[in-house]
Amino acid sequence: MSMRRKVLIVFVLLLAVLPQLPVPEFWITQLNYTGLYALVVIGLVLLTGIAGLTSFGQAAFVGLGAYTAAYLTLAHGVSPWLTVWAGLAITFVAALLLAWVTLRMSGHYLPLATIAWGLSLYYLLGNIDALGKYDGLLGIPALNFFGVPLNTGRGFFYLLWLIVLLAAIAVIHLLDSRTGRALRAVKGGSTMAEAMGVNSFRIKVTAFVLAALLASVSGWLFAHFQRTVNPSPFGLNMGIEYLFMAVIGGVGHVWGALLGAGVVKILEDQLQVWLPKLLGGSGNYEVIVFGVVLVLVLQYARDGLWAFIESRLPRVHRVIDWADAAALPERTRPPPGEVVLDVQAMCKEFGGLVAVNDVSFQVRAGEILGLIGPNGAGKSTTFNLVTGVLPTTRGEVRLRGQRIDGLPSREIARRGVSRTFQHVKMIPGMTVLENVALGAHLRGRSGVAAAMLRLDREEERSLLREAEAQLRRIGMVGSMHELAGNLALGPQRLMEIARALCSDPALLLLDEPAAGLRLKEKQGLADVLRQLRGEGLSILIVEHDMELVMGLVDRIVVMEFGTKLIEGTPEVVQASPAVRAAYLGTEH
Ligand code: ADP
Ligand code: MG
Repeated sequence: MSMRRKVLIVFVLLLAVLPQLPVPEFWITQLNYTGLYALVVIGLVLLTGIAGLTSFGQAAFVGLGAYTAAYLTLAHGVSPWLTVWAGLAITFVAALLLAWVTLRMSGHYLPLATIAWGLSLYYLLGNIDALGKYDGLLGIPALNFFGVPLNTGRGFFYLLWLIVLLAAIAVIHLLDSRTGRALRAVKGGSTMAEAMGVNSFRIKVTAFVLAALLASVSGWLFAHFQRTVNPSPFGLNMGIEYLFMAVIGGVGHVWGALLGAGVVKILEDQLQVWLPKLLGGSGNYEVIVFGVVLVLVLQYARDGLWAFIESRLPRVHRVIDWADAAALPERTRPPPGEVVLDVQAMCKEFGGLVAVNDVSFQVRAGEILGLIGPNGAGKSTTFNLVTGVLPTTRGEVRLRGQRIDGLPSREIARRGVSRTFQHVKMIPGMTVLENVALGAHLRGRSGVAAAMLRLDREEERSLLREAEAQLRRIGMVGSMHELAGNLALGPQRLMEIARALCSDPALLLLDEPAAGLRLKEKQGLADVLRQLRGEGLSILIVEHDMELVMGLVDRIVVMEFGTKLIEGTPEVVQASPAVRAAYLGTEH
């Protein structure tokens, strides 16, 4: 058994015996609040830490869950075991609507929008007669678990912490899955995620809705724990506090959510007792301390408190259990010589700048085409146009006869185009293996529920088997358990190629793959590319290392100032005076 599992079991046992020990009621209450907060913060880990979307509005979803429970039990006598589902349904619809509107916003607009709805719900709840306005609703019944009333802190403790642990484990399972990789992929912007076939908008909505649902469950529990609800715990203050807990605990770690919730709750209570004694009078002094702590944490411990614990736990290597997994189905390859990519009179203008001007070329199955030219010639833009990262201004792009210009990036990926980036785009905190497995996203289908319940393991083993095979091919299998962010630039580029190959492409676009590679690695790369060509793959490569290009490619297209200067075999291109003047001349 792994060390981590042992720690988890000890933690669970501790939680199980704790209410049986003569622990003062005060501490049981503290732990109950910690559990209620932790549920919300686990959602924030998913939303903010993993998917990179900051929300100050989670308290509003807690409010939706709490008020639904309170209103339905009090006004209509509905069983709490039904109101929880009603709360989830209402939250689901509300979160979906809010996500639809706000997740299209970029940058700082999303946090601002979350502040707006955090405030609105507070005032809305405070002005509805049926919900008791700012006084709220009183006399909510305690939960009753198969005849056992959970009307004491200790009784409630068990149900609450069972739910918290299940939620934590479900989210941990989710993060270690196909969907989990997609969630992490959207954090640094959507270009890479989309190029791997991830629908980045949908995955963000997923994170948003899941976080809201966790908050809603917390609200339901809260209503039956406090036995009364009023708008104040669901306002913006609390929304900020939840985010604070996430940051203190470590916004990227599920267990950090529990830690953050506990530390903040206890700190808050102690400060509320001690600060007025020290400073005299009454006031919300703890807010000032929280502000200072937050600044300190962001300055000195960006990954939160959990990072300290994490660094003391042994790193677990994933157990290789996929050796006998079923191979993923493969695309039918185009016959050798078929035109795979057909670019006709393609143009791209950035304002007044014509970055790609009337460029036409073709790539055939089983061919490597080199795209060369000085810096700023429009090579990377050409890649971005072919892969749908940027829309074309004019012209046509066809893949195996079908128009692909105008399609979203992920749709082009689905049709068999995969790529690497001039500036490596990866998930630094994930292992090399997991980064590469992201490339196989479109070859799996299991979603959130399957991942949480671990019903996706058969498919997951196949995806990881594919990732390992591509790493082996590119000569990087030895680094598969390393964190991608710890690799040198050369190996990071190779990792990107393995990731692109994981998608089983018909056309592979490599943007300066040899930059940062050592001689041996370059030769290894050239061998792999020749082998892929032999297997019928089409490759379009942008590369500055002329020796590599000339020895590898079948034909070359030379670009300068956005236009195609010449096209031909390496011999023809090398002999061309125009090319020497425009490009090779600048090399020496
Ligand atoms: P290369 O890859 O051949 O070095 P690029 O395709 O990156 O060249 O760039 C071609 C030209 O287009 C450059 O002048 C560059 O500054 C410009 N360019 C590229 N991307 C953008 C963009 N998103 N917005 C505005 N200008 C751009
Ligand atoms: Mg470039």
